[in-house]
Amino acid sequence: LEAQFHQSQKMEAVGTLVGGIAHDFNNTLAGITGNLYLAKKAADSLPDVVDRLNSIEELAFRAAGMIQQLLTFSRKGTVQMHPISMPSFLKEVIKLQEVSVPENISLTCQVGDVDLIVNGDINLLQQALINLINNARDAVESVGTPAITVKLDQCSVDEEFLERYPAITSRDVACITISDNGEGMSPEIQKHMFEPFFTTKGVGKGTGLGLAMVYGAIQSHGGAIAVESEEGVGTIVRIYLPLLQSGAAEGVVDDTTGVLGGR
Ligand code: ADP
Repeated sequence: LEAQFHQSQKMEAVGTLVGGIAHDFNNTLAGITGNLYLAKKAADSLPDVVDRLNSIEELAFRAAGMIQQLLTFSRKGTVQMHPISMPSFLKEVIKLQEVSVPENISLTCQVGDVDLIVNGDINLLQQALINLINNARDAVESVGTPAITVKLDQCSVDEEFLERYPAITSRDVACITISDNGEGMSPEIQKHMFEPFFTTKGVGKGTGLGLAMVYGAIQSHGGAIAVESEEGVGTIVRIYLPLLQSGAAEGVVDDTTGVLGGR
């Protein structure tokens, strides 16, 4: 018990430190992107310079994404739950993400006609989705016809599912699926993927906090997350969130591979 206490104290100290650095770094980045904007305007007729400035801009956006991840991870305070209409929420997030996904990657969103409502913290869910889309983007970087799909379905989970994954608090769930045809993950990587600071992306590219944050966010919503992945084929991430309000149940969840309900 004492060891656990020390561990959580340490994590808290790391969180505070990281949060402080991330906050200052964020201000610095704002200075960089502000100046970039002005430089791009001034360099309008110099294509070579504009090219380089665009590259810098892309890197700055990436850095901003990483800092956002660190800030969310170290964020204290309570979750603010409100009813969220999932179809419009997802469409909005995809629209915002389109700018940070290169044009050669097809990013599609299939939300259906039913308005599924979930009680959730919109900032937390948005950040979780962004992390998952960014992971998919990184995974498809070197494949021939890169594609990412975000899909929303209504599902009714069965008794067995509820027993196996007690974190799920409702039989009717919204299922958000994020699939990519990227490099996939080895079983070894899948074993560690939710651990904070676990990354295969190398220094300056990944923080290893993305999936840890997603896991925490889904847990605080009484949901569950399942990951299916195969090297060289791709990855499917399924997120189950309890529905606040629903129409008729459509699908039944039978694929429970890798669902992490009560870790
Ligand atoms: P980061 O993205 O900063 O590395 P994450 O916690 O989001 O941190 O992911 C941890 C690791 O899991 C990644 O470094 C990568 O190896 C693997 N991973 C996550 N999502 C995917 C995906 N969609 N396809 C392939 N590998 C993935």
